[in-house]
Amino acid sequence: ATAATLSKTEVGDGDKTGEEDDKDDKAAQSLLNKLIRSNLVNTTNQVEVLQRDPNSPLYSVKSFEELRLKPQLLQGVYAMGFNRPSKIQENALPMMLAEPPQNLIAQSQSGTGKTAAFVLAMLSHVNPNNKFPQCLCVSPTYELALQTGKVIEQMGQYYSEVKLVYAIRGNKLPRGTQLEEQIVIGTPGTMLDWCLKFKFIDPKKIKVFVLDEADVMIATQGHQDQSLRIQRMLNKQCQMLLFSATFEETVWNFAQRMVPEPNIIKLKREEETLDTIKQYYVLCNSKEEKFMALCNIYGAITIAQAMIFCHTRKTAGWLAGELSREGHQVALLSGEMQVEQRACVIDRFREGKEKVLVTTNVCARGIDVEQVSVVINFDLPVDRDGNPDNETYLHRIGRTGRFGKRGLAINMVDSKFSMNVLTKIQDHFNKKIEKLDTDDLDEIE
Ligand code: ADP
Repeated sequence: ATAATLSKTEVGDGDKTGEEDDKDDKAAQSLLNKLIRSNLVNTTNQVEVLQRDPNSPLYSVKSFEELRLKPQLLQGVYAMGFNRPSKIQENALPMMLAEPPQNLIAQSQSGTGKTAAFVLAMLSHVNPNNKFPQCLCVSPTYELALQTGKVIEQMGQYYSEVKLVYAIRGNKLPRGTQLEEQIVIGTPGTMLDWCLKFKFIDPKKIKVFVLDEADVMIATQGHQDQSLRIQRMLNKQCQMLLFSATFEETVWNFAQRMVPEPNIIKLKREEETLDTIKQYYVLCNSKEEKFMALCNIYGAITIAQAMIFCHTRKTAGWLAGELSREGHQVALLSGEMQVEQRACVIDRFREGKEKVLVTTNVCARGIDVEQVSVVINFDLPVDRDGNPDNETYLHRIGRTGRFGKRGLAINMVDSKFSMNVLTKIQDHFNKKIEKLDTDDLDEIE
């Protein structure tokens, strides 16, 4: 089976802005998060639960024992190093394991335990003695499907009677095949073909239908329709579960079409704040001057770890090259890299092998590198129309209350235009951004 990779084909198109990377990057971003995430995201927020039947008692569990899982599964859970359910799992698991089955729409940021939750639900609901598919799990890409498959294998490591098969392009089965695997995981197009055209799967026998990464899914034209067509072939009693990291209007509309009579669970992201951040700007006249200013402060910023943001891949590449020529050891994270390569760069940076990471907006979006305490905006964040992108600014340098270590942000200004952007950002957050004289660094040290 040859797998499509998520890397860009337009390698070398250095003028692409970060924004342009964005469109085809949703799936890549999500995969990247999975590749680098080894732990639950910390959150102090409470989950919001909306029950379909408000009169039925609301169960939540504080331990995996309370769920009365099959011993083989409990063993698998502990072997993965899970001691207790995550915030979202506390509520989602009892709902998903209830009898009769309940439908669920759940939203929380990546790394909060959604995948582990629905994998446990699927494994709990299959009957290993029945040699036919009983659970379908639809993912937006081959790579994401594979990641979920790995979790199923890990969690089911002591439950080897349960088998898994991938419904992905390239996995060609002979006509007339009757699948014996209990769990099928794949992308919407192939999954639909397997149900409808090849009849490898009997949709009427499906007990659990999972739609993962709904927000990524709807970004691809066609995936929505295919998913809905699969859903319509299922029995009314089939349990429908939908998961998403974000919940815009479009995702919500899709979710409601996919999941009838849902329970809803939401977990808010931790708010970011600029309160613990010292913000400065440096006045320059050109890109070259910005580079020189950066060299002047380099010693001061590399006491800690620093991330440097540029607007385009081209600038990021240039800057990383110049810094290396100066003898600095820097890492470059760029959109033309394959996802695995990017994960590797981030891992090295996390381990402190490089102290400075140069990147574009989009590449680093959604990636939390907690120990970074210095952020340099080599270019200020602007949207497609050149307006200040306050949200990105906040996300780059803001801290969550939880990890509210003191931080330092330095903005490079090289024109009237960027000064204007800076002023607007300052006004938006109503927090002063001080001028920094790079010949006199007493201030930041
Ligand atoms: P999501 O699907 O929301 O991105 P995952 O299920 O992939 O989240 O979980 C994120 C990380 O946390 C994974 O490395 C996973 O193994 C781990 N994890 C999930 N649930 C728990 C738990 N209850 N206790 C400890 N770690 C967990």
